[in-house]
Parts: sequence; structure tokens; C-alpha cells
Amino acid sequence: MSVLLVLEESGGKIKRASWEALAAAQKLAAPHEIAAVVIGAETGAPAAEAAAKGVGRVVRVEHPLLARYTADGFCAALHQLIQNENPAYVVFPHTYQVRDYAPALACKFGEVFIGDVTAIEDGSTFTRQLMQGRLTGTYRHSGDGPCFVSVQAGAFRLEAADARQAAPAPIAAFRPNIDAAQIRTRPGEAFRAASQTVDLGSAQRIVGVGRGIQSAENLPLVQALAEALSAELAASRPICDNGWLPMERQVGSSGHTVAPRLYLAVGISGAIQHLVGIKGSQCVVAINKDPDAPIFEIADYGIVADLFEVVPALIEALKAAKA
Ligand SMILES: Cc1cc2nc3c(=O)[nH]c(=O)nc-3n(C[C@H](O)[C@H](O)[C@H](O)COP(=O)(O)OP(=O)(O)OC[C@H]3O[C@@H](n4cnc5c(N)ncnc54)[C@H](O)[C@@H]3O)c2cc1C
Repeated sequence: MSVLLVLEESGGKIKRASWEALAAAQKLAAPHEIAAVVIGAETGAPAAEAAAKGVGRVVRVEHPLLARYTADGFCAALHQLIQNENPAYVVFPHTYQVRDYAPALACKFGEVFIGDVTAIEDGSTFTRQLMQGRLTGTYRHSGDGPCFVSVQAGAFRLEAADARQAAPAPIAAFRPNIDAAQIRTRPGEAFRAASQTVDLGSAQRIVGVGRGIQSAENLPLVQALAEALSAELAASRPICDNGWLPMERQVGSSGHTVAPRLYLAVGISGAIQHLVGIKGSQCVVAINKDPDAPIFEIADYGIVADLFEVVPALIEALKAAKA
């Protein structure tokens, strides 16, 4: 049994979500060999990075027409590689790019795409959330072809995939046959995020603020707490809907999925749509004046109090600890 792990890179560096997908691939039924796949026109740097991780081998899928991402180009290249390798599983991080092309790729093999998986049980049972996280469904692959799976950001621990090998894994090249006429889209300029754009998905500490903060004028209080903790500031949806913080800071089912070591929820009730975004957090601390707030059901530590009393005290304590 072999597993093809399709990595995604940006600027020559493999994205964190790809290593979480490696941690997921390592949970698949053994024995298997994990072959990491890097795709592009020139993949030397990401291939070398992948070879240093806990994979059996690395495959460089290279073609000039793969210099820029297109769904047609990636589908054509991976279709040929998968036909060549005949793996039991093809695993992806659940990125926007993967959502764009992986279902079509699975269709080429007459298979379904099991997307946004949050857990793998017994090596072959996949869990995913349904109806905004209110239900979970379990899935087992029953087709004859490969099983196509993508992995939700934050659902699998990065550290599990971080076992570096003594010797780098072997790297092989695969050159697909792609004709320019196969590619129906012409990529525009790559989207460049504004320089201040926050990367909540990679943040190790996050202070999340909710409607308990009452007004935009009170936000400097939680901003000061985030600074004292060297944390990123995030928010529940109403805060972003009100325009008090930009949408890029929203956490939850229609915002970002985060997986920090510490998530400090300040004045957040704990609606399911928010919780699905933070469940990968290693430690959740909640400050809420309502002892029955649902956030306390998942919090590791809870502070039942008025945030306007607790937050200034916390900032002072953190400053004193640093002094
Ligand atoms: C399709 C859909 C998608 C959604 N996507 C998201 C999403 O991605 N992210 C998201 O967050 N929500 C999302 N929501 C909204 C979600 O259902 C909740 O409405 C939202 O999360 C509530 O935000 P909140 O906890 O800040 O506010 P509230 O639910 O109003 O909670 C405020 C909390 O603050 C506490 N509080 C008030 N004053 C104080 C004080 N002085 N000190 C301490 N505590 C205090 C209160 O006790 C309360 O628990 C979505 C909803 C839908 C329908």
C-alpha cells in the first residue's frame, strides 16, 4: 500500500497545512510508504525540504506549464502520476487550491473526494463535520481506485509530522505530458496579501475577542492583552461583521481555522460556528461573565468574571512577570 501526499508550497516553501496532512497520512492503515509529491516548473527547494521529513520518497512533478497553478494543469499532471503509481490513498491539505482541483481529479478515477477530514480512526475511517459542525459523519472508502482525502487545517498536530530523518529521502522526477490546449484558464496575477495580513493559521498564541467587548472603542484593551502575550488578535463573527476588526481576523466556520498552543477567548459565548474554528487549539482559556456560556464546555481553564476587570489585571500581571 502506498500513500501519495500532495504538498502545497508558496514561494518555494512548503505550507504548514501540508505537514499537518503528513501527520494525517501517518495515521493511515499500515504498512504503507508515504511518497511526498511536489508540483511546479522547478521544484528543487520544496523537494529538498520534503526529503528531510518523515517520508519514504519524494516525487518532483515538473513541467513548464505547471509554473503557475491551474486546475487543468494540476489535474492532468496528477492524473498521470496516480495512474503510474496506483496508490491506495492520495492525501492533500484542505486548501483553497485543493478544493478547486481535487474533486475533479477524484472524478477522473470514478472516486469521491472525502474533503476536510478532521480525524482518522482505525487507519481507514474518516471523520468530517456536517451542517456547520452540528453533526459529524464517518466515511470509509469503498471504491476500487485510490481514496482521495483532504485534511482540515489544525485537525492533525504538526509536531507529529516533524520527525526529521537521519538521511534525506530519495527524490525522483516525473515529467507529465501536458499540452497547452488542455489548460482552459489563463492565470492572472498571483494574489498578494497586504503586508499587514495576519496568518492566524500559524499563530502560536491567539486572543479571540467577542461581543462581550461591547464596542469598538474597547478593543484597545484586548489589543494590549494580545501584545502582552505576544499573541495575534482574532475575533468572533459579530466583531468582524460590525467592521470593528477586519474579516481576516474572524475565526470559525466562515472564518479561519486555527490551531495555536493557547487560545484565550474573551467575551465569546462559544457558538458552534466559533468552536469549529478553534478546536485544534492545544489549550483554550475563556473569560466570560456567564457561568453557563457554552465556551466553558470546551475550555481547559475558565474565568467566570467581567472581562473589564480581569483583562487589565492580566495585562498588569504579564507586564510584571516580564519586568
Ligand atoms: C452560517 C453561519 C456561520 C457563522 N460563522 C461564524 C464564524 O465563522 N465565527 C463566529 O464566531 N461566529 C459565526 N457565526 C455566528 C455564531 O452563530 C455566533 O452568533 C457568534 O459566534 C457569537 O459571537 P460572540 O460569542 O462574540 O457573541 P455572543 O454570542 O453575543 O456572546 C457574547 C458573550 O460575551 C459575554 N459577555 C458579555 N459581557 C461580558 C463581560 N463584560 N465580561 C465577560 N463576558 C461578557 C456574554 O456572557 C456572552 O457569552 C455564524 C453563524 C452562522 C449562522
